[in-house]
Amino acid sequence: MDKNAELFELSKKLVPGGVHSPVRSFKGLPMSPRFFTSSKGAYLYDIEDKSYIDFCMSFGPLVLGHKDHDVEKELVLALERGWTYGACEPYSLELAKFLVEKISFIDQVRFVNSGTEAVMTALRLARGATGRNKIIKFNGCYHGHTDAMLIKAGSGLAGTSEASSKGIPPGVAADTLIVELGDLEGVKACFKQYEKQIAAIIIEPLPANNGLLIQDLEFLKGLREITKENQSLLIFDEVISGFRVGIGGMSERLGITPDLVTYGKVIGGGLPVGAVAGPKHIMENLAPVGEVYQAGTLSANPLAMVGGLATLRKLTPAAYEEMNSATEKIKELFEKWLAEYNNGQFSNYKIKTYSSLFWFVPTDKEIKNIKEIPTGLGEQFAPLFSELLSRGIYISPNAYEVGFISMAHNSDVISKLKKRLFD
Ligand SMILES: *Cc1c(COP(=O)(O)O)cnc(C)c1O
Repeated sequence: MDKNAELFELSKKLVPGGVHSPVRSFKGLPMSPRFFTSSKGAYLYDIEDKSYIDFCMSFGPLVLGHKDHDVEKELVLALERGWTYGACEPYSLELAKFLVEKISFIDQVRFVNSGTEAVMTALRLARGATGRNKIIKFNGCYHGHTDAMLIKAGSGLAGTSEASSKGIPPGVAADTLIVELGDLEGVKACFKQYEKQIAAIIIEPLPANNGLLIQDLEFLKGLREITKENQSLLIFDEVISGFRVGIGGMSERLGITPDLVTYGKVIGGGLPVGAVAGPKHIMENLAPVGEVYQAGTLSANPLAMVGGLATLRKLTPAAYEEMNSATEKIKELFEKWLAEYNNGQFSNYKIKTYSSLFWFVPTDKEIKNIKEIPTGLGEQFAPLFSELLSRGIYISPNAYEVGFISMAHNSDVISKLKKRLFD
């Protein structure tokens, strides 16, 4: 048995399913997960010392690549100063100032430790600020694992919702209304049925957690108008898209100003950071100014703040251009390989891209909501994933997750990818 398989056996004894986050378990795949022990640039190294070109990049945070030298330097300095004070410190102010200066609708920021926490806080804030309870969420958007967001459309009566996980009270599910992506009429129907009860609409402006479901501008603008008309808030969950598609995220690209935005992933550059941000009159509903409670022992952790800021500082317009152009080159290589490999075994696969995000999907049709995703995706994905893994190419172990290109995916890495695909 190889060391990866051995460790997975041990891990399954110590940890439920052997993992601390379900997608890591390689469920439905014919091999055990890899145990990575080090990384650098675009490469991951497993416990057997095999190298992989990484296209998962910790599911997004590592926009500069693994162990970026400048981030590392700042982190070492921060470590020498001390790693938590549980009190005021200047480091989070610098990151907050960066956000306020770069993103026009942000006056204030509250830092937390994950995207999930950022969403939890944004939802409570929206409810506290509006005095309303209901939230509209879209089918196929992921907003972390807080109770109110693990909800799907009910199987019974139209308009009802139910939990998509055990352990969530029906009362919580009842306050989350589920609508299909792109369905503006569905949103309007919710506002009609629950007049003055809807606190907010939450959406990933670039849904990228169930494949890559690029939305029409008109739909997103429609959400902005409807929320304004009904004195509800629009929350953009930019945990994936924030600082990934540009410093100003999707909101800047689309020219749509949300009332609140949530960040995670890239904002910490690989350290645990989440944030909720927005205009002062909404943000100051949070304690200790306002009556919406929120707190965190390790919030705005100085190491994480320094790592995040060092990462964001390197994201110049040229950096984005470089990543986007690398993404197109990588797409071309993969698509050539997909078309040719094993007499066309994967020739139905195409690669969809947006900025430095990409998704392997077995169709060339446009896909804008989860109903349009081809069925049997998981079964088709398993042999593709296995073949790539054996060639030293690591993509996310789940057919519905997107891939991420970083600043470390340079021309050397692209040449190496070509070798690994075609030799
Ligand atoms: C990853 C993600 C989350 C959850 O963030 P965690 O840090 O994993 O808790 C929330 N929303 C979106 C859009 C995400 O991509």
